[in-house]
Amino acid sequence: METKSFLEMTTELWKAWLTERGHKSFVASQIDNWIYVKGSHSPEGFTDLSPSLRALLCASFSWELPILVDSILPSQDGSEKILWKTADGLFSESVLMPTENRVTLCVSSQVGCRMACTFCQTGKMGLSRDLTRGEILGQILLGNERLLARDENRRVTNVVFMGMGEPLDNFDPVVDACRVMIDPKKLGLSKHKVTVSTSGLVPAIERLGQEVPVALAISLHNADDAERSAMMPINKKYPLAELKECLLKYPIQTRHGITFEYVMIAGKNDSIVHAKKLVKFIHGLKAKVNLIPLNPHPGTPMEASSLESLQAFQRYLSDRSIPAPIRYSKGQDVSAACGQLASKRIEELDMMPRKVALARRRETLEFRAGNELGP
Ligand code: SAH
Ligand code: SF4
Repeated sequence: METKSFLEMTTELWKAWLTERGHKSFVASQIDNWIYVKGSHSPEGFTDLSPSLRALLCASFSWELPILVDSILPSQDGSEKILWKTADGLFSESVLMPTENRVTLCVSSQVGCRMACTFCQTGKMGLSRDLTRGEILGQILLGNERLLARDENRRVTNVVFMGMGEPLDNFDPVVDACRVMIDPKKLGLSKHKVTVSTSGLVPAIERLGQEVPVALAISLHNADDAERSAMMPINKKYPLAELKECLLKYPIQTRHGITFEYVMIAGKNDSIVHAKKLVKFIHGLKAKVNLIPLNPHPGTPMEASSLESLQAFQRYLSDRSIPAPIRYSKGQDVSAACGQLASKRIEELDMMPRKVALARRRETLEFRAGNELGP
């Protein structure tokens, strides 16, 4: 039988495990402290525990982090794509994006995704399986280790669920991991700095609002029902009116309210008519819109909107007092950007998108100053 990972243990499970073995339940918080606050996953070094308990911990659990397969450090923007492997041999990815005053980690919630959005490479994979709470948390610990390996004496400060997968299609492990992230006695991140991004699973959005106070991002991409359904099949199940109704009731966590992600695709959703519909959809909500030029990948004829359309769309929104920064996702030059995570093997990542992304990057380099994706 496979040994259980230490990261699958909640505080409650630690307590039960400890008391069954004649230890005091408060030792659970000492273990949590070593793991999440001190960042250690070597029980040999848990010096405030007895040597026999340390030995038992070593023998009873697997203390490995997700297996680092490779990491790619792009030269241009400092972000790092981390390719990692689950214990059962599936590949997934996280993206580390350090800037001067924060370190954002883009985490995956599933291997693949079953939402099948037409513009997204992960969507093309289908779903292999959900990640566990331990595999989600393990990405943060791995991110922190990568920072140490880069001689950076700091930790992940922001987490965005914008890697592979639909987080709300893997509800319980995602919520469980979010609770550990914002627990001051565990990872201690600010609740404003953990963002769950969803394609719009209405009942799960409602539950999320009740269960954990993290920030919410909605991948909208089109405010016309028929067009959105064609891009995002989930819209057929939960159309815009239902989505809006649930967002009106959502407990707002951040200064900006709800963030809408809007991937700008040439000729698909980037006209002024689309902008008008978007403004109408947002009416009554405290919101900000991130305009994200489509990240290209092989096998799709879709292209990113021109700079002209992006700017006209942006102006239309900002003239109506809706903040709408244009965001270029980081890591494009190593296919680490939003919607580009679909690796089965590292070789597959080095195909055509790199060239396309670099060309597009050069075109827009002057304009983009300071506009990086991240909450
Ligand atoms: N499944 C969740 C979170 C992961 S996708 C969601 O859809 O929100 C993270 C973000 O990347 C989403 O906003 C998604 O719409 C966007 N995205 C997907 N494909 C993209 C692409 N090709 N270019 C730019 N952004 C993309
Ligand atoms: Fe899944 Fe999000 Fe990609 Fe849609 S955009 S297929 S929901 S990962």
